[in-house]
Amino acid sequence: MKSRKFIATTIHEYLNEQEMLNENIEFVLDKESEENDAIINDYGIRDLSKIHQDIIKFSKEALDTFKEKVPIWNDVKVIFVNKIGDMALGRFRSGTSLSIPIVLMSEKDILSATKEYNIPLWVAVETTIFHELGHAICELERKIFGYKFLEYGIEEDWVEDLAYQLHEYGDIPHDLETFIQEYKKQL
Ligand SMILES: [Zn+2]
Repeated sequence: MKSRKFIATTIHEYLNEQEMLNENIEFVLDKESEENDAIINDYGIRDLSKIHQDIIKFSKEALDTFKEKVPIWNDVKVIFVNKIGDMALGRFRSGTSLSIPIVLMSEKDILSATKEYNIPLWVAVETTIFHELGHAICELERKIFGYKFLEYGIEEDWVEDLAYQLHEYGDIPHDLETFIQEYKKQL
């Protein structure tokens, strides 16, 4: 009887986990994919159920805002990793802009940055996601048009500016608008 109860509990836990993963599909990669293995190798992937629920909620909201204002990708993934390095809060997974862009995030670094700079958690989450997706935009534009429509010079400045405008005013830079139009024409 004891073992049967154990099995029932395990199945119950499994179903709960599946439910959570379906609800949070933006935060998990296909377990069979090469990208999933590669990220585990490079940074380690955190168990989603262990991530601060507010961070997940704010990430979802940031993704919704981004997709509305920058209608390039239907799917974007945010993956929480163990250790991101360079004292970064997030990192764009280069090479993913042509399919489903992946943003890697460090929960630990986000939490410590909110304390250190005394900023609200949602602001840290949102600006990090916008910044990293800015790098995805730059990569996509380079791959498709060879750096024709965006005027960044220094990519880091351009993505910071994008994150600021989008966060502060819900606006996107003019050259990004042009790129989105040109991108949609060639689809
Ligand atoms: Zn950057």
